[in-house]
Amino acid sequence: MSEQYLSPKLNFLPPLVYHSEPCRFTYVFYYFWRIHCFRRQVIISKLFKFCRQLVGQSEAKAAPVTCTEPKLIPRSEHNISRKQFSPNAIKVLYRLKDGGYDAYLVGGCIRDILLGIEPKDFDVVTNATPEQVKKLFRNCRLIGRRFRLAHIVFGREIIEVATMRGHHQGQDSKNPISQSSEHGQLLRDNVYGTIEEDAERRDFSINALYYSVNDFSIHDFANGIKAIKERKIELIGDPETRYREDPVRMLRAVRFATKLDMQIAPATKAPIKELADLLSNIPPARLFEETLKLFLNGKAEQNYHMLREMGLFKQLFPTLDAIIEQSDSGFESRFIAQMFANTDQRINADKKVTPAFVYAALLWFPLLKRSEQLQQQEQMPVFDAFAQAMNHVLAENSQHIAVPKRFTLGARDIWHIQMRLDKRGGQRAYRLSQQPRFKAAYDFLLLRVESGENEQQELADWWTDYLKQDINGQKEMVKSLPSQEAGKPRRRYRRKPKKKPQNND
Ligand code: ATP
Ligand code: MG
Repeated sequence: MSEQYLSPKLNFLPPLVYHSEPCRFTYVFYYFWRIHCFRRQVIISKLFKFCRQLVGQSEAKAAPVTCTEPKLIPRSEHNISRKQFSPNAIKVLYRLKDGGYDAYLVGGCIRDILLGIEPKDFDVVTNATPEQVKKLFRNCRLIGRRFRLAHIVFGREIIEVATMRGHHQGQDSKNPISQSSEHGQLLRDNVYGTIEEDAERRDFSINALYYSVNDFSIHDFANGIKAIKERKIELIGDPETRYREDPVRMLRAVRFATKLDMQIAPATKAPIKELADLLSNIPPARLFEETLKLFLNGKAEQNYHMLREMGLFKQLFPTLDAIIEQSDSGFESRFIAQMFANTDQRINADKKVTPAFVYAALLWFPLLKRSEQLQQQEQMPVFDAFAQAMNHVLAENSQHIAVPKRFTLGARDIWHIQMRLDKRGGQRAYRLSQQPRFKAAYDFLLLRVESGENEQQELADWWTDYLKQDINGQKEMVKSLPSQEAGKPRRRYRRKPKKKPQNND
């Protein structure tokens, strides 16, 4: 048997060299025996793979979670007390109750308290319409077109009051209260209904928990308490339909999985990769809000990895994702992960973070790439190319994520300063360090070094030292810069004095 017929995987076989008859027989026997073993291994592993697929598919095709008769958990059987709620939320509940309406605390606040987490906000649901709610509260403002809500404002705290949602009567582009797109996305969701219907319209089973002030019981419509115990994020209803109705639910699944340290149930996870591109139908302003929730909640690094794994990051930051995919060194992904890790650390230490910094980092590699293209293809000078590339990447990003101008201005400042950090001669270092965004730009330089840009190490060390010095120390540092680093002093041009017109007379 010639070696060329062996599959490359069979190259563990010794070369076929034999000298005598018995030796030749042993070799042939040995060859056949190894091939037999290899085939057996392949068959067994294929069988395992098939079984795993079957189990995975059956999990992914598990019957959808539905809302049934609610399980009532009386006060004596749960550990939620009114003291854990915001007093303003309690006020709203009682005012609605006294006004003759049903009112419940719902969703995240109940889920979080059950998990021992401090709720971020308190959401109330009632059978009063937004207009009826407004009549009860002087401090109420109605918001939203797609999803009409009442905000009850108590200084800096806002209690969101939603009217119970009902089911839609199919697609109708002219319906003023309910409207969906050709993709099945709900464009307007103002059909009011019963509490049972409202529970069905909630996203995950862990979010369909209602707390009543009538008897302090919890109403669990979709086995949410069981899902909390099993640490499972599962969509209510058919996952594909629910994602089509509102693709942002894919981002919410990731956010809750990391925030609550839970697993996304296989059936809830399965359609995400395929439906990820539906995020392109979400208004850019809403996507900006959602990215802030993902990146400024102390779990940004985990969210980043999970978004990438599930094909969602690509929808949010397509140019950056392509650069990361094509990178051999992995530097770009390390930089982004490091930026998110630093952001998480700052948030968990109650330090300030700004979306300007996060967006400066997220668009940094697309900016460098574009700038390089402009220099190479259009022979633009470095500074011009960089300035034009900034406009380009910000405009491209705004097509799908609307970052408010105050943050894009901040990102521009951070980028500009990167270009000027090595020009330190004369008064330059001092002037640069006095700029409002200098600290953020310096942190950005440290981030570049931390994630592997070793060429910038010396510059970063110099600035670290400089910032520790008093004014005299700083002057000394500038004086002792090598002459080429200090940069040439700017030449001042003097206008030639105008010649006086000669009088020939
Ligand atoms: P957190 O406030 O910690 O982000 P949350 O669950 O309270 O979590 P909110 O955005 O405050 O999230 O929404 C309140 C409730 O409204 C949710 O618990 C959920 O029941 C419902 N909800 C929010 N967004 C959606 C959505 N896109 N689809 C269906 N239900 C939703
Ligand atoms: Mg909430």
